[in-house]
Amino acid sequence: MKAALIGNQNSGKTTLFNLLTGSNQQIGNWPGVTIEKKSGNIRGALGWEVVDLPGIYSLSPYTSEETVSRDFVLNESPDLVINIIDATSIERSLYLTTQILELDYPVVIALNMADIMKRKGVTVDEEKLSAKLGVPVVTISALKKTGIDKLIDAVVGCKAKTNTGKPFSPQIERAVETVQKDLTGSNRRFKAVKLLERDKLLAPVINAKVEEAAANLEKSEGMDTEQIFADARYRYIETVKTAAITVAPPKETTTDKLDKVFLNKWAALPIFAAIMALIYFLSVGVVGTLTVDLVDAGFSKLSELAGGGLIKLGASDWAASLVADGIISGVGAALNFVPQLIIMFLCLALLETTGYMSRIAFFLDRLFKRFGLSGKSLIPFIVGVGCSVPGIMSTRTIEDEDEKRMTVMLTPFIPCSAKLPIISMFGGFFFGSFAWLASLSLYFLAIAVILISALVMKKFFFKGNPASFISELPDYKLPSPVYVLRQVWERIFAFIKRAGTVILLCSVVVWFLVSFSFKFEYGVDIENSMMAGIGNCLAWVFYPMLGNWSWAATVSAFQGLVAKEQVVSSMAVIAGLAEDAAGADIFSSGVFSFFTGASAYAYMVFNLFSAPCFGAIGAMRRELGSAKKTWIAIAFQTGLAWCLATLVNAVGSLILLL
Ligand code: GDP
Ligand code: MG
Repeated sequence: MKAALIGNQNSGKTTLFNLLTGSNQQIGNWPGVTIEKKSGNIRGALGWEVVDLPGIYSLSPYTSEETVSRDFVLNESPDLVINIIDATSIERSLYLTTQILELDYPVVIALNMADIMKRKGVTVDEEKLSAKLGVPVVTISALKKTGIDKLIDAVVGCKAKTNTGKPFSPQIERAVETVQKDLTGSNRRFKAVKLLERDKLLAPVINAKVEEAAANLEKSEGMDTEQIFADARYRYIETVKTAAITVAPPKETTTDKLDKVFLNKWAALPIFAAIMALIYFLSVGVVGTLTVDLVDAGFSKLSELAGGGLIKLGASDWAASLVADGIISGVGAALNFVPQLIIMFLCLALLETTGYMSRIAFFLDRLFKRFGLSGKSLIPFIVGVGCSVPGIMSTRTIEDEDEKRMTVMLTPFIPCSAKLPIISMFGGFFFGSFAWLASLSLYFLAIAVILISALVMKKFFFKGNPASFISELPDYKLPSPVYVLRQVWERIFAFIKRAGTVILLCSVVVWFLVSFSFKFEYGVDIENSMMAGIGNCLAWVFYPMLGNWSWAATVSAFQGLVAKEQVVSSMAVIAGLAEDAAGADIFSSGVFSFFTGASAYAYMVFNLFSAPCFGAIGAMRRELGSAKKTWIAIAFQTGLAWCLATLVNAVGSLILLL
């Protein structure tokens, strides 16, 4: 026994087909055309096979999909037709149904999308609809897997067609009757209507009698027969709708009301900007200024006490320095930022759990499409505010290969939480109480750079079409405190763990390289240290953006490859060792005092856009699938970062001169 699955495009045929057949499907092409052909056995219905036909809107042979579907039902004589109807656009779906009902085969109607029917305010009286159409109707949701068993029962139990109704006006019915009388074989009513419509595939069989009946009909109705039948079908559908379907204006939910504000055409972007501004203001601004000095002073004190204590206990100079200037300074420099990160993570977790993030992503979908990206690439960018690694991993949901590759390369541009220490430290010193504005400006600069890069890449390298975005969105809901706290805790814990492991190790290495010369003499002037030697070989790279020859800033930037907060830790260790004056702050130490507002911003820009840390590079490698592409991505990111930073310093220096 064979069932044909017929319905409009996007009515859920394939979803239903997969549900009905499970994994036992054969996939091939229809003879002569490249349209996919799928068939399989219906689970739990012994001896039943189902064929997924291409999505169509009518049985007229205008497109290859329509021809394929029509040929199948006319020539392969299925034992039954499952007509799937999208409950959210019943009128359009029923147009096809009226044609299917003209065939001889038994029909079972699957009324799909039951899950969103209610939300749209649509109520369908299954029994009345079934009585009106003369065939069984089963309400299902292919997505939520409801009603499927009932549908299978209906298919198995459906023996013959019961519908003998005459839906058209007496005059039209008479014309159909006249033509039908002379036909033989199956599907006579269907063929009679098509003949009257002067269907092009039936042209050879249109005889004088058919022509006369059609002409008569046209004369009395004043339009051609194709229009007459289309018109008659819609009139019939009207009566079906009145009998069985009620559409109540959908109730406005809380989500709708909130969307009116948050996703308002004009206000959505300003509100989004304001929310991000608030996040940076609270974390970098309020909490940052309150805590950094305090925590910093704490670590300085600790460093002093530890150093002094160790000396008193008889430890050697270098051991005391390792603990005080290396470990405590380096790890402390990173831990300084824990309070502001807590606030930032808290805000982000709130935005996620309330559903705001997914909804704004959906809203920005349209805007992003213009740049060759879709809402699906927005998710990585949003996740990337926490950390690039999960951000890059979430590009897996992007179907279009080109869009995915672009997104992988662009996600590290988003200021991740490890970059916040750099931004916050420089911002705090050079922009004072406007540090949060500096951070915010970098966030929006990142978005601008991402969009422009996407546009350029799209124009020259990648040609794909952005995939359309998910249709179902979570409603707004009250945040769950447990979820929020767990999110914050996990992220903070990861940060602290890095400080205690990677950053600690690196701080020791930095301390070693700064404290010793190449001849392994301890306590040399830092300008003669190994670190200075290494940095001096590479400092030319950073000269244009810093306007200064600085080995210290050079080696620190390179350490961003390990972890971005290591840039800050490295600077703290170097400055600590450079300065004899106790408690001196990083920017008043000789090695870093050259920074101006312009070069500070340039350095921030470089660290923001250059190659991400090794963890993120590994994630890029996995998602891009090749080492070569990864190298290209790194070269692109670092090259762009260098150019931007140099430009920022040049423009900034000019402004400072004025
Ligand atoms: P086809 O073009 O007829 O094969 O339709 P698909 O099976 O590809 O489905 C089109 C879209 O509608 C997909 O995004 C499905 O996830 C979605 N869809 C299918 N059935 C349902 C349903 O019952 N409810 C909802 N909400 N969505 C559905
Ligand atoms: Mg399909």
